[in-house]
Formats: sequence, structure tokens, C-alpha cells
Amino acid sequence: MDSEPMGETFGSAAAGGARQLWLFTARDSLFFGAGLPFFAGETGRQKSRFPPSPLTMQGAVRAILLQAHHADVREFVRGWCTTCRRPAAECPVMQMVGEENDAETSAISLRGPLVATDDGELFYPAPLDLAWGRRRPSGVQAQADKPTKELVRLVPSEDATWTDMGLRRLPAAPEGYEDLSGVEGRYLAAHDFSQYLLGTVPKPGQLIDLWEVPEEAQTEGGAEQKHRVPPVADELHVGIGLNPKTRTAQEHMLYITHHVRLAKGYSLAEQVEPAFAGANGRQNGDGAGSHGQADVAQALPDVAGILADLVRHAPDVVRLGGESRLSFLQVRKCAGPTTDEKRQIANTLDSQNSRQGPLRFRLVLLQPARFRQGWLPDGLNPESLSGALRGVPVKLVSACLGKPVRQGGWDLANRRPKPTAAFVPAGSVYFFETTDPHCSGREIVEALHDEKLGLQTKAGFGHVMVGCGW
Ligand SMILES: [Zn+2]
Repeated sequence: MDSEPMGETFGSAAAGGARQLWLFTARDSLFFGAGLPFFAGETGRQKSRFPPSPLTMQGAVRAILLQAHHADVREFVRGWCTTCRRPAAECPVMQMVGEENDAETSAISLRGPLVATDDGELFYPAPLDLAWGRRRPSGVQAQADKPTKELVRLVPSEDATWTDMGLRRLPAAPEGYEDLSGVEGRYLAAHDFSQYLLGTVPKPGQLIDLWEVPEEAQTEGGAEQKHRVPPVADELHVGIGLNPKTRTAQEHMLYITHHVRLAKGYSLAEQVEPAFAGANGRQNGDGAGSHGQADVAQALPDVAGILADLVRHAPDVVRLGGESRLSFLQVRKCAGPTTDEKRQIANTLDSQNSRQGPLRFRLVLLQPARFRQGWLPDGLNPESLSGALRGVPVKLVSACLGKPVRQGGWDLANRRPKPTAAFVPAGSVYFFETTDPHCSGREIVEALHDEKLGLQTKAGFGHVMVGCGW
């Protein structure tokens, strides 16, 4: 590893500006199944998950690209392109979309979904190293007025504790705080999230509950009418099971689904970009070593060009999620993290660790991640917790992990749910230190910031950002 001074050496994450932001603005309520079997009359009730799984978004993006190519999806499943009149394997669009039953062969790399406002501000899952805590009253000081809860940031404790995984340094609150509770399910606006990455503890008002009316709109006359509703709301739908043969209502077949409704001014955002930076086949943010990708990169030297052309022909109204709910689709240019942002993080990492020794950094998951060894990121030894993450030699010191989430999907070809796997949830935070004293902040940021770790990275799983300070 070198540690040359930082110049204009940051590669553009946007890979020549080919990254796009797809905004899905729902025309109606939305329903995202959990990938579990659902038969009217049996379970009777199903709640939409929100945000939807990256797999749902990947399915939608692939279908839209095929639609833009005017290709018949049923024929695609059979391996034939009706537009090019040749096998799917020879159609550039179908090659780009990937094999029907293995989306990871796609030449498209996704990041998302995230909730966004119409003007493109994104909401990120609140990192789980944040917690609510109460400052412990000192001595005789007013037992009566209990101090209000503040947000605090957990850091790996100096002392190791015996756990069922051996001697480990557990995350702990700063000295003097008690009554801790988690921030699961909350969000930070992009600007506040950037500040968090640089080491700032967000203010309580910056932690957003998307199911609640925004704070500034709660005061009388404080905001326009449209802001007095929560960004996301549950909506009850009652349906009647139909006999598929006679299309008549069947007895005992009432079912209830909980849809979600996004308020006016909010959309679901998905970042879409070619999986390769260029003809050399360098991967864009996806874990290396999957499926002879070099061949696809070679056969499809201009994924960016094909993608840009397809988007011009993409429909304005598209299906998203279950029950064929419709959304407007809008595609914008998307820069990804700017050179400035990356440089700031790198500089902060370097300056916080100016003494000779390892650099310490956090990795925050923006989407669920699936690793071969469960919660432990790929490339690390389960005993020593040391190894390499995308080439950066590290040791895992501690982690704040949420409850595992199960992700499955629907197996179109075999008409059955795909087996579910456990994923580390979005918001989880890993604390690392480098094991090479010469490793610089720039190297960490270049290798890991806005990149993806683990399995199914093309779909957007394992999307991480680098945070400073502990
Ligand atoms: Zn074709």
C-alpha cells in the first residue's frame, strides 16, 4: 500500500457520469410482499414491507429495461428476444439484464432503494451505533427533573468482555449515560448523514420517523397542508378471494393487506449504473469474482450507452411491487458521492489518527447485507476477525448489528417462493482498524465508501459507507 499525498487521485464513483437516479413516484398505494407464500383464506392478512427489498427494485428495473427494448418478457424467460429475433444470449439488452433465473449475471449495478423527496434529497437508515441515552444525574442534583434523552454514539469499549463468541469489545455509550434505547427504523436526511459520517452526533430532531408528520409541520400554520401528513402511511385494503375458475367470490376468503402510501413529494429512489467502469471490465462497486463477468464486460463494452438509450424509451408509468401497483418513473443524472465528500472523510480519518498506529473507521450498511459467514463480512477470519475488505487489511473490533432480516423472493420459473436467507439489516455498523500502519484514509475511502460487500451486490445488497471517529 502506498500513502501518496492526496491530489486529484479519487476515481469518480460515477464511472464517467453513467450513474442514474431512478425515482419511482407512486400513483397509488404500494404493496411489497415479504417473499413469503400468501394465499387468500389461509393467512388472511399480510403487511407490506417497507422499504421494499433490493430484489423487488432489481426485478422492476430489469422488467422496465426489457419493456424499453420492446421485448416480450415471456419469450425472455424462454431465452428468445422478440425484438432482435435472436437468442437472448445474443441480444445486448438481454445480456445486460442478465439471466432470467440469476440476476447477479446482470451488467447493471444497483444501489437502493431509499426514500427521496421530489428535489432528490435521500433518507438513509439511522446508523445503529446511535442510541438514545439519559445523562446520569450526579449526587443530590435534582432527582425530580429527570434529564431528557439525548442522542449518543456508541464506541467499542476499551475492556473486552467474554461473550459466546469469545473475548470481545462490545459497543458502549459514553461515560455517564444510562437508560439506553435504540434508533431502529429511523432515518437521517442525506446532509445529516454526511455529517454523521464525519463524526458529528445528530441532534434529536434530525432523527426522522417516516411514519410521523414532520416536526416543522406540526406547529399550527407552520407548513403547507401537503406537509401535514407523514411521508409514509399504512393503508388497510380488504379484498375478497376469487375462485380462479369462475371469478366469483368464495366464502371465507376475505383477506386484508396493509399497503403503504407515500405522501405527495416523496418517491422511492434507486441508483442504476453499469456494473463495469469500462472495456477493461473493472467492477463498479460489486464484489469481485462472480459469474465470468469479464466475458460479459467484453461482450458488452458500452453498457452505459445501451442503458442511456434504453432510458430514453422507458415508459413513464411502470409497475412496482405486488398487485401491479403503478408508479411514475423519472430518471435523472446522479453523481454519487462527490470527490469533496470522499476527501473530507479521508482527511478526517487521517487527522483523527495522526499518531503512528492503525486507522480506525466505521462501515455503515445502507441496505441489508448477506455474507457467507452470517454476520461476519466476507474476507475476515472468524477466529482472529482479521483479513482484508476489498484489499484493505483490517481487524474487526466491534459491531452494532440489528436483528437479522429474511429475504427471499418469488421464483418465477418454478412458481414458488425462493428459500429465504438471513441478512444483516440496514443501519448496522462495523468498527474496524487497519492492520497495515501505512494504510491511508484515502485508501480506505477509495476501496470501501459507496461500495458493496458480500453476496447479491448487483441487486444493491451490502451497500456501505465509511464513517469516521471512535
Ligand atoms: Zn433484443
